[in-house]
Amino acid sequence: MKTSRSSKLFSRAQRILPGGVDSPVRAFKSVGGNPLFIKRGYGATLEDIDGNKYIDYVMSWGPLIHGHAPRGLIKALSAAARFGTSYGAPSPLEVELGERVRKMMPSLERVRFVSSGTEATMSAARVARAATGRDKIVKFEGCYHGHADAFLVKAGSGALTLGTPTSPGVTRGAAGDTLIAGYNDLASVEALFAANRNAIATIFVEPIAGNMGLVPPAAGFLDGLRRLCDAHGALLIFDEVISGFRAAPGGAQALFKVRPDLTCLGKIIGGGLPVGAYGGRTDLMELVSPAGPVYQAGTLSGNPLAMTAGLWCLEHLKPSLYRTLSALTTRLAAGLAEAARSANVPLQVNAFGSLLTPFFTTQPVRDFASATSASAEQYGRFFRGMLERGVYPPPSQFEAWFLSAAHTTRAVDKTIAAARGAFDDVAKGTSATR
Ligand SMILES: *Cc1c(COP(=O)(O)O)cnc(C)c1O
Repeated sequence: MKTSRSSKLFSRAQRILPGGVDSPVRAFKSVGGNPLFIKRGYGATLEDIDGNKYIDYVMSWGPLIHGHAPRGLIKALSAAARFGTSYGAPSPLEVELGERVRKMMPSLERVRFVSSGTEATMSAARVARAATGRDKIVKFEGCYHGHADAFLVKAGSGALTLGTPTSPGVTRGAAGDTLIAGYNDLASVEALFAANRNAIATIFVEPIAGNMGLVPPAAGFLDGLRRLCDAHGALLIFDEVISGFRAAPGGAQALFKVRPDLTCLGKIIGGGLPVGAYGGRTDLMELVSPAGPVYQAGTLSGNPLAMTAGLWCLEHLKPSLYRTLSALTTRLAAGLAEAARSANVPLQVNAFGSLLTPFFTTQPVRDFASATSASAEQYGRFFRGMLERGVYPPPSQFEAWFLSAAHTTRAVDKTIAAARGAFDDVAKGTSATR
């Protein structure tokens, strides 16, 4: 595989962009090798600047449920751009997209558009604190809610200790207001409530965890969170930046029939353009400025280009799409599991809807500890083997694979065939050199 152009550009990029990229996981640090620079994407295919083509399972980390550059979307965007890209004044499209979101996810009685998932979670936390008059938030180890200070926190020595920052630059003050619980572990949440009476404003959760690799919620976990929040006067916030419009048209909340107080959205809602949103109960959202006193603003929020992409994307989510995606994902998950077995490589494949993660471990993966028992080194070898064979999986063991409407049975079967070779590489402890 020839990658000289990407390598050369990566050297140049490192002299201008920190680490050569604009978001860390793109740098291939945990899988080895240099990142590939992409020339274009179409359907389920990525083409790099050396002319190599790959079946893409990153799909921009989730937004591209209709594939790269669907013709209808490009047409709608071109038409919208001719009318201007941003007004800094309201446009009809925001109202239309807001109403469509509420129709699909009725718990969002009011919604505010922003430009990223990070903005959505950060702002939802502010609303929850304002509404409850409490400072502390609970998050789960291994869940990601964007890069705002309050969320860059992991557990200290035990679930009851105050959080310690994951990143330098996060103040002890910010980290100290974030408490960490175990995913799929209601007892750890109960213990936090017991130790922090009347201090917890909200629980943030990815109702289907996708950022430690895919970890679905255990039976009763989301219901239990709803019950605990109600018992302790805290708000329940679902971070559906990945699961929204992907798990089902109504998100994980529709699928598991649990109604959160607030919901954060991103990724699919922007159809590949920068869009996020938060919304929920009217009484809470009416606290947001200018309806209420909780300040939050954005120069490019709700701009017509972004809203056009969101509208096109949501309008094209048909029930049949979910059935097709789920069947394809099941086929891929089964194929990967079987190929690993034949090569004698221990593998646990978690799959849900159009998401999956193959974990290189012998343990069933249901929380952060079991997820991180997976071998990042074996995954790296597998990843490089897949690239060699024309498949582009996420460049990290601890991420979800995303399928889209553009993935075909043929592409999935090609992926499984490539995986046979890549698992052999893992078993042999070798990898194709590039
Ligand atoms: C991607 C993601 C975010 C952050 O969204 P950005 O648009 O990258 O800021 C927040 N929460 C979850 C669950 C995500 O997957």
